[in-house]
Amino acid sequence: MTEMPYTPTPEEQDALRRIRDRLGPKGWVDDPETLAPWLIDSRNVYEGRCLGMAKPATTQEVSDILAIAYEAGIQIVPQGGNTSRVGGATPDPSGRQLLINLGRMNAVRDIDAANYTMTVEAGCILKDLQDKAESADRLFPLSLGAEGSCQIGGNLASNAGGINVLRYGNARDLVLGLEAVLPDGRVWNGLRRLRKDNTGYDLKQLFLGSEGTLCIITAAVLKLFPLPKERAAALVALSDLDAAVTLLEQARTASADALMSFELMPGFALDWAERHVEGAKQPFDTTYDWTVLLEIGGTRADGSAGQALEGLLERAYEDGHIVDAVLPQSEEQRSQIWFLREAIVDAQVREGAQVKHDVSVPVSRVPDFIRQANAAVIEMMPGIRPYPFGHVGDGNIHYNLSQPVDMAAADFATHREALQRRVHDVALSLDGSISAEHGIGLSKREEMLRCKSDVELETMRALKNLFDPKGLMNPGKTIPAARAETK
Ligand SMILES: Cc1cc2nc3c(=O)[nH]c(=O)nc-3n(C[C@H](O)[C@H](O)[C@H](O)COP(=O)(O)OP(=O)(O)OC[C@H]3O[C@@H](n4cnc5c(N)ncnc54)[C@H](O)[C@@H]3O)c2cc1C
Repeated sequence: MTEMPYTPTPEEQDALRRIRDRLGPKGWVDDPETLAPWLIDSRNVYEGRCLGMAKPATTQEVSDILAIAYEAGIQIVPQGGNTSRVGGATPDPSGRQLLINLGRMNAVRDIDAANYTMTVEAGCILKDLQDKAESADRLFPLSLGAEGSCQIGGNLASNAGGINVLRYGNARDLVLGLEAVLPDGRVWNGLRRLRKDNTGYDLKQLFLGSEGTLCIITAAVLKLFPLPKERAAALVALSDLDAAVTLLEQARTASADALMSFELMPGFALDWAERHVEGAKQPFDTTYDWTVLLEIGGTRADGSAGQALEGLLERAYEDGHIVDAVLPQSEEQRSQIWFLREAIVDAQVREGAQVKHDVSVPVSRVPDFIRQANAAVIEMMPGIRPYPFGHVGDGNIHYNLSQPVDMAAADFATHREALQRRVHDVALSLDGSISAEHGIGLSKREEMLRCKSDVELETMRALKNLFDPKGLMNPGKTIPAARAETK
């Protein structure tokens, strides 16, 4: 039976008409074909419906439409590039929610090279901002697989991580100031460009990582850094898993903490990448158990980054921590090994159904985590294929699981929840987190009940209620209902 579309109440219809009038034809989308891709999350797990999509072009427009929606009690789902891995930007299936997509707010308002800052609007595409910073001889270091389509507002709202966290921190570490519109339409202009500002509670840190549940972020002052003038990368094969932690420690020291990335990949993932992804090439003759892609940045183009890397690898080889290494000799070869790193994600998709995790543990406990999680899932399901990889320099493992070769994908999916709980239990037992960088959204909301104390959850609910007393901002995301209310 086809569900009937939701019919807005007269009050909602009046509010939607006022919003459309305020935004004009460029600022409103309601034809089903254009809307369709914005109603499904990037993992194709959640699909929703909506009243329409508002596309404001200015902070004042965001403020006006939120004020109208607030008065009429219309629920809002803020959306950037819709690349969330946890269903955070997808409306629910009721058809009663209004999408607000920030894509038209894409101006860089100011670059202050001497202050090492850039003031940008929320809808700027991350890659465009990296390029803009580079054209001013500066680095904006946030970098992740979805950078060609995700927006800085979405990155900040979900406190994104990515491949350079080791050296520069998460998205929340890269912000000096913020502009946000509160659910009732009030604008908070906190676009300060200060590195020292010790004046009471830090509101911006509350909004960063709030996943669209407290406000709409409309602009930010981002920190910039000296542009590395050279990058020296290597793909190395480890003697064993524990060598990852030793090599990481040594690399930080040898590079004077200029290590930018340290990505762990199981050797067979490189084979899968070569088999399934066009252009990906496994550079080793043998399938090693564990490999690491590491990269050091240098602010002088004098070969010192390369020398530090070579010295490090020579020592690591002599000490028996690594058994093989590939050092790219050109920018093209360097891009190829980074392409391989990105390709292992697609390669796993082609190997059948998966269960994914984005956990973190203290860096020193990464090998224990992988060993204990492997033992736990193999005990639950012999034949399951653990596929752990990721930003191990930050203790962040994308602990993915591929279905046993002889199991139907649908059968594997029925074990998803039990597997996830088991893996999360291992991470929590090692003082870890169930979400290192993707956030909570819809997919991990109920796990919050297991990993947060009552004090923490009650404080989060109190803050949510303070900013959003009508519960209109991204309802149902991130914060679970109180324990007594679930069931
Ligand atoms: C191939 C791929 C690789 C990825 N790699 C990484 C990675 O390495 N590290 C990582 O951290 N993530 C990664 N992600 C996840 C995702 O790209 C990031 O979470 C990204 O920061 C989301 O940005 P977005 O603009 O797409 O936001 P969306 O998906 O549109 O939204 C994300 C959340 O933020 C809210 N939101 C969006 N814009 C605003 C705003 N202006 N104000 C308030 N709330 C807002 C939404 O409601 C939602 O809750 C990856 C995703 C893909 C598809």
